[in-house]
Amino acid sequence: MDASTRYSLVNRPRIYLDYAATTPLDPEVWRIMNEHALQLGGNPSSIHAEGRAARTAIEEARKSMARLLHASLNEVFFTSCGTESNNTILLGAVRDLRVRRIISSPIEHHCILHTLEYLKTQYPLEVVYLPITGTGQPDLQQLAELLNDQPGRETLVSLMQVNNEIGSMIDLQYVGDLVHQYGALFHSDTVQAVGFDQHQLSQLPIDFMSGSAHKFYGPKGIGFMYIRNEHILQPLLYGGSQERNIRSGTENILGILGMARALELAMAELDNRQEHMRAMKARLMNGLLAQVPGVTFNAIPAESSAKILSVNIPAGPRTDLLLMNLDIAGISASGGSACSSGVESASHVLSHLPIDSTAKTVRFSFSHLTTALEIDQVIEEVSRLTALKTA
Ligand code: PLP
Repeated sequence: MDASTRYSLVNRPRIYLDYAATTPLDPEVWRIMNEHALQLGGNPSSIHAEGRAARTAIEEARKSMARLLHASLNEVFFTSCGTESNNTILLGAVRDLRVRRIISSPIEHHCILHTLEYLKTQYPLEVVYLPITGTGQPDLQQLAELLNDQPGRETLVSLMQVNNEIGSMIDLQYVGDLVHQYGALFHSDTVQAVGFDQHQLSQLPIDFMSGSAHKFYGPKGIGFMYIRNEHILQPLLYGGSQERNIRSGTENILGILGMARALELAMAELDNRQEHMRAMKARLMNGLLAQVPGVTFNAIPAESSAKILSVNIPAGPRTDLLLMNLDIAGISASGGSACSSGVESASHVLSHLPIDSTAKTVRFSFSHLTTALEIDQVIEEVSRLTALKTA
């Protein structure tokens, strides 16, 4: 079944442009999960036939993901989400690998920043945040200087591949080479990039990375981490020693099967999806430039993720409630990251960028499902809302 047929089953009356927050389940992923839901009743740790069937299904899923990521089977570990993966890696690096300095950036996701701040209170750890350039990239010159001052394995560099709010990216190969050149360890939060980029992990100079199925049309509540063979980390959760002792708890079998299928589809359709999203992003940019005076964009659009466009709309009488008005008009976008409280709060990412503080920033994020008609409707609606004068 090709993508257009699969998704014809999905009813989409609204215009959803918040795919960086989460993606809908691919109907083919749902089909696989559904098919196995009533069949795989055993506990994968049991040694009887039902247990063995569940174990086999999990290991097949791991095999498929390891193949797609060019990793070894024993380097892929299933977790409940990207947050858990990142927490396990950062804690493990400090507690088990005796990392004493972490170099990161102030525009990482909160699951990195809050973990670093916590770890600082518990371990003899120095955390250094790199300055951010005007286009939303960590200052790599400064990174090289910091590594040069104090080389070696007591330093871990943790930098996200794709920023979830503005779409700016780092080149994993370039940064990983730099980090390894100085003998330090490299972790990347790749939650926004897995399924949207090739990760040849056997070749990439990277020690740890994380992924989350709900960002690539898989189910919510399932993720994975990559830990290079040579590193042995202790678990975050102690218990039954599942996932080769690093993640206790009975496995989320259906989630794992769904995630593996979602990654297979994402990688098979990668080029087409990228090309389509890039076209949708360019259409929105050009349309807004033509219709909304003074509009600007964060990150360098052509060098940032195809799926994210962060737009600064000059202040006007209706811009304060822009997101709410878009929502009323049937358009779902976001102010920055999806927040757990449901309240729009100031973005820690945008605060590091040279943006006019009165402007309203909206993140539109795209899918292979996004249509040109949807984009045109969004341009029309944004231009209508920004042109409105107070009565
Ligand atoms: N890292 C980044 C860059 C993200 O965008 C997100 C989700 O928004 C996460 C981590 C957390 O992933 P999860 O929702 O699976 O915990």
